[in-house]
Amino acid sequence: MFGLIGHLTSLQHAQLVARELGYPEYADQGLDFWCSAPPQIVDSISVTSVTGQKIEGRYVESCFLPEMLANRRIKTATRKILNAMAHAQKNGINITALGGFSSIIFENFNLNKFPQVRNIKLEFERFTTGNTHTAYIICRQVEQASQQVGIDLSQATVAICGATGDIGSAVCRWLDKKTDVQDLLLIARNQDRLQELQAELGRGKIMALETALPLADIVVWVASMPKGLEIDTQTFKKPCLLIDGGYPKNLATKLQNPDIHVLNGGIVEHSLDIEWKIMQIVNMDVPARQLFACFAESMLLEFEKLYTNFSWGRNQITVDKMEQIGQISVKHGFRPLLV
Ligand code: NDP
Repeated sequence: MFGLIGHLTSLQHAQLVARELGYPEYADQGLDFWCSAPPQIVDSISVTSVTGQKIEGRYVESCFLPEMLANRRIKTATRKILNAMAHAQKNGINITALGGFSSIIFENFNLNKFPQVRNIKLEFERFTTGNTHTAYIICRQVEQASQQVGIDLSQATVAICGATGDIGSAVCRWLDKKTDVQDLLLIARNQDRLQELQAELGRGKIMALETALPLADIVVWVASMPKGLEIDTQTFKKPCLLIDGGYPKNLATKLQNPDIHVLNGGIVEHSLDIEWKIMQIVNMDVPARQLFACFAESMLLEFEKLYTNFSWGRNQITVDKMEQIGQISVKHGFRPLLV
């Protein structure tokens, strides 16, 4: 059995979902309530591969909300993730993806040092961040969606916002090795890490977001921001392709310009309907078929009986591993969402 640990994008989103699911008493509660809510399995999932193989899974809602980080409730945030992992393990799930901020919190606060959660000793090999598949899917989106909108990669400048992150650095490695992209613009706050990445790649220009955006034909957004940015349409080059892989979204603005193509990043479409409710709750356009690539990674590992933390740690994703998960992804009928 596979598992998915997820969370909602904001307190407002959580209140809305509670109302929709028929829990009006939860819908009026503030952040304190969500801070004390325990993890819960709220969905059972069946997925059929195009090979005919069928697997079962569970969705674990961690009750973490990004506002907990914004309000410096770090202990609460880390407790949420560890409790959700313990809950998944206790329920016999073999391989569980740490969706959205779950893996970011795990890494940033070194939760591998705290394997004991009450009477459960976490077995980390039962978990994966899902970031290898996410990075692979974003790269395929860059390659395929650029063609769709008429941007030639060999002439294109690609800006990566969040370049030094786990997903961002993997995207840079792939674009450098597997494509003939003309230029890479590397964006993040910590300058030392940016320089390390630049040295590893042997290329790329370190730039501030405001300087990079007007130069970029393609922007890959993979920064771990608890809240999206408001950006004026005027800032972007036209045409341009914006691939927003953030969860919550990095871009808060609804950009309405025919020359600005915005694509949901790190999202896959399955070839067959999936029996679940959860993707409706996170507002996927086609909830029976579309899902986060990190969640799909745990499905792929379950299909292949690869019970291992395929994606783990920070900035260790290689192009070889991206190719490996990519082949399995295609084999079981997943494809990147396109424009
Ligand atoms: P990491 O924490 O590994 O990396 C985050 C990156 O963003 C770092 O480079 C960080 O560098 C940068 N960053 C953070 N804040 C800012 C800021 N304000 N301005 C510019 N850069 C910033 O995160 P991941 O790579 O694991 O995840 C990235 C995003 O992808 C998250 O939003 C996550 O929720 C989402 N995600 C989506 C998935 C999907 O399936 N679609 C799956 C998993 C994650 P610095 O701190 O130096 O600024």
